[in-house]
Amino acid sequence: MKVKYQFLGGADIVGRMGLIMEGPKKTVLIEYGMSPSKPPEYPMPAPRVDHVFLTHAHLDHCGMVPVVCGRQNCELFTTPVTAEVGELLMNDSLKIAKAEDYPQPYTASDVDRTMRNVVPLTFGDTIEIGRTDVTLYSAGHIPGASMFLFEGDTTMLYSGDIHTADQRLVSGAKPVDCETLFVEGTYGGRNHPPRSETEVRFLNKVREVVERGGKCIIPCFAIGRTQEIMLLLKDLKYEMWVDGMGRSVTRMFLDYPEYLRDPKKLKAAKRNFNTVKNSNMRRNASRGQVIVTTGGMLDGGPVLGYVNNVKNDPKSAILIVGYQAEDTNGRMLLEQGSMVIDGESYKIECEVERFDFSAHADHSEIVDFIQKCDPKNVVFMHSEVRELFLPDLQDYNVILPELGQNFELEV
Ligand SMILES: [Zn+2]
Ligand SMILES: [Zn+2]
Repeated sequence: MKVKYQFLGGADIVGRMGLIMEGPKKTVLIEYGMSPSKPPEYPMPAPRVDHVFLTHAHLDHCGMVPVVCGRQNCELFTTPVTAEVGELLMNDSLKIAKAEDYPQPYTASDVDRTMRNVVPLTFGDTIEIGRTDVTLYSAGHIPGASMFLFEGDTTMLYSGDIHTADQRLVSGAKPVDCETLFVEGTYGGRNHPPRSETEVRFLNKVREVVERGGKCIIPCFAIGRTQEIMLLLKDLKYEMWVDGMGRSVTRMFLDYPEYLRDPKKLKAAKRNFNTVKNSNMRRNASRGQVIVTTGGMLDGGPVLGYVNNVKNDPKSAILIVGYQAEDTNGRMLLEQGSMVIDGESYKIECEVERFDFSAHADHSEIVDFIQKCDPKNVVFMHSEVRELFLPDLQDYNVILPELGQNFELEV
């Protein structure tokens, strides 16, 4: 059975994903995200589809789903934890659009309708779509993140964002035999340092800063990174605080323990952190020793208040544990040692150090994953450096589709 594909976004960039898959009987959309830049950027408009599949609850994958599932009133196949965290994100991005005065691509009632259209599925579940069976597998990226295996005459695996190594929060993805593999390539040409070394270096730095009388400000993305860092810090006997959207996401993750590598440890981590629930508590948190908080790229959220308090204190440190996109405060801090707070630019005098806690497989891990899935065709997506994989994949038919380009493959 021939299937037509078209990327509506996210083929050659990390962001705003969207893949149309048009079979003889049904047309489905896999993911529909947005890039939360200023102003936000969106994928190409989606045609009429029968169903939507969503891999995980990061904005670049789920941010535009309500435009389709809400407006077209079609079913959304995803894990229940992805749906719940996704709803939080979708509503949050509406709030941000309103606050920043950007046009809203959908309404709160589109989000509600999307949630009513969720068909919750879990790893190992199979559903039948037209003449194709679709099975979910864990993608090892964040809790609930799925890969989808489409089985018709042949097989196609869609990875979404994956990590194959174990993290504290989730176990790594396992390869799945397939004829065609759609795989992410965020880390083309780059490998992570061993995670255990990064963890030791990070913990030593936190101890060093606190012992010399400083504070550690750790800007973190709410979904995944906040919890990974809390798990890592949980046995330290310091006054530790967590602030921002990561708090609600931790609660949601704990409601779905089957998607966590060790729910007991996350519960223990949550207990060892004080939670900021209002602005009075934020004042107390500012006097704490370790503060884990959104926003992950220092562009907004409570982190700016905490940084403002320590920016002239060489004893304190900002520990960067996530990716910093271009044109963000986080990138400016790393490259120029300055930041914009409340419209004013400041030189940051405290220590700034960065650590690689990526939730994506690196170059070697992706190549290894591909070899173990043993496909004929490899389609790269979610990457600005896809061609860096070519020398390692000479035995495969590698496809690097462009945005909007139509291409056909057997499934
Ligand atoms: Zn992701
Ligand atoms: Zn992504």
